[in-house]
Amino acid sequence: MNIYIISTLINFSASLFLGFFIFFSNKKERVNVSFSLFSFNVAFWSLGYYFWQISNNSYWALFWSRFLMAGAIFIPLTYLYFVYCFTGLLNRRKKFLIFSFFILFIFFILNFSSLFVNRVEPLLNFKFWPIAGPAFSTFLFIWFFYVIYSTYILYKKYIVAEGIFRIQIIYILVGMVVGFIGGSTNYFLWYKIPIPPIANILVAFYVVAVAYAIIKHHLMNIKVIATELFAALLILITFIQIFQTSIYSIVIRMVVFVITTTFAFLLIRSVLLEVHRREEMERLAKELQKTTKKLAAANKELQRLDEAKSEFLSIASHQLRTPLTVIKGYISMIQEGSFGQVPKLIGQSLEKVYISTERLIGLVESLLNISRIESGRLEFDIKPFDLAETVKVIVDDFQSKAKVKNLKLEFHSEPNLPSVSADPQKIKEVISNLIDNSIKYTTKGSIMVGLHQESQSVVFACQDTGIGILPEDLPRLFNKFTRGKGMMQVYTEGTGLGLYFARMVLENMGGRIWAESAGKGKGSKFAFSLPLSDKSKARKIK
Ligand code: ADP
Repeated sequence: MNIYIISTLINFSASLFLGFFIFFSNKKERVNVSFSLFSFNVAFWSLGYYFWQISNNSYWALFWSRFLMAGAIFIPLTYLYFVYCFTGLLNRRKKFLIFSFFILFIFFILNFSSLFVNRVEPLLNFKFWPIAGPAFSTFLFIWFFYVIYSTYILYKKYIVAEGIFRIQIIYILVGMVVGFIGGSTNYFLWYKIPIPPIANILVAFYVVAVAYAIIKHHLMNIKVIATELFAALLILITFIQIFQTSIYSIVIRMVVFVITTTFAFLLIRSVLLEVHRREEMERLAKELQKTTKKLAAANKELQRLDEAKSEFLSIASHQLRTPLTVIKGYISMIQEGSFGQVPKLIGQSLEKVYISTERLIGLVESLLNISRIESGRLEFDIKPFDLAETVKVIVDDFQSKAKVKNLKLEFHSEPNLPSVSADPQKIKEVISNLIDNSIKYTTKGSIMVGLHQESQSVVFACQDTGIGILPEDLPRLFNKFTRGKGMMQVYTEGTGLGLYFARMVLENMGGRIWAESAGKGKGSKFAFSLPLSDKSKARKIK
């Protein structure tokens, strides 16, 4: 067996293998199919080449020469087809491709006559080298034209391509150029130029380049792992072995030995890695289970504590409220003179005690409300009512308080507002708290209270010219026991419960509450919306 037989067997098996591999990796992709077609074409040519080399009479040598040329004729066509698919030009160049097929088909027909391959005769070391017929030069010209043209298209695409696509093109480009140059060394002897097909083996280079691009850069959307490739190589070499009978088989067996050893090593390593990974996963899963259990227990404990806290708050408030009411009652009776005349000085002190007791009762009431609302015990008596009327009454009540601070308190309502659906008593508390806050946190200027309709709700707004709210405080104000920064200095008796209660109440009635302020010293606006009781009164937003 000579070097040419070996090289052609390598070309054949590498192309055949790559063709199948790419085809079965993704049969649905046209790029893959076209590339497989090209590879099979090269394999066909190599097969003819092999049998021509081992022919021992001129009849068969001529037959196999024509067989290999049948393959060679279509190589540029399948190459062009692949390039068109790969670069996305196929649809635009379909006609040219069909035209090219017919051109090359003419030579396929001529291949049955002596016009193409004329005869075989001994040349250099070859016993039966084919000699060109009169049509062969034209064919060669066309053959080279197509190969160069297709390569040029690939190159043009390479220039404009970017990223991974650009890298993929360069591999194909280099593989094809080297492969075609190698294959072209077959043509010198046809014209008796004494250069043997020394580089025939280079044809397989395109297989190497494309395989490398598949592994490294996922060419044609194929992802392979090293073991797969080794397995593939093993199959390939075992296949070549079928044709081996001489000294070369020792070399081949050695290669097989090396590959098998590497393959076995890789396989064992990957199995070990897999086992290790699984163990690690199991350990992590166990840890996760433990942590989840701990978390669930902690969560339960937190819930229990929260309930205990609410319970405590509720009991403490109840216990506080009764004695406080008694104290308040007795103070009133003393002030009214039920137990005899009260001296002026004592009367003045009693007045202060009375005010403080009332504040304490208010605080206890707030705490009770919160604990009721949090435990779901606060009941809502939701019914349709006229919000405008309610607000008017409350604003009137606050006029005297505003006057004391020299503040203008005004109320404007859109006429004929539809009624809302809510608990009137609770809403009164919310509105009173909002207006009270505005008076508390405003030193000069005015407080504007307004009502208007917005599609499916009525919106209440209380706008003041007071101390305003810092942007960082805005989102927190509606939380429990939360007050704005530095509020302790402005108003010492605040608890930070009023807005929390308001939010709870509104959320329970399908409403919403929010605050707006341009910043410190720029006034604030507190607003809430309540759903209409009669949905048919809803208004379209312009
Ligand atoms: P309190 O007024 O008792 O502190 P609230 O829950 O009613 O409790 O209010 C919480 C905080 O919201 C107040 O401490 C204050 O910082 C801020 N705030 C409420 N209303 C106004 C307002 N009209 N102008 C500026 N800040 C306000």
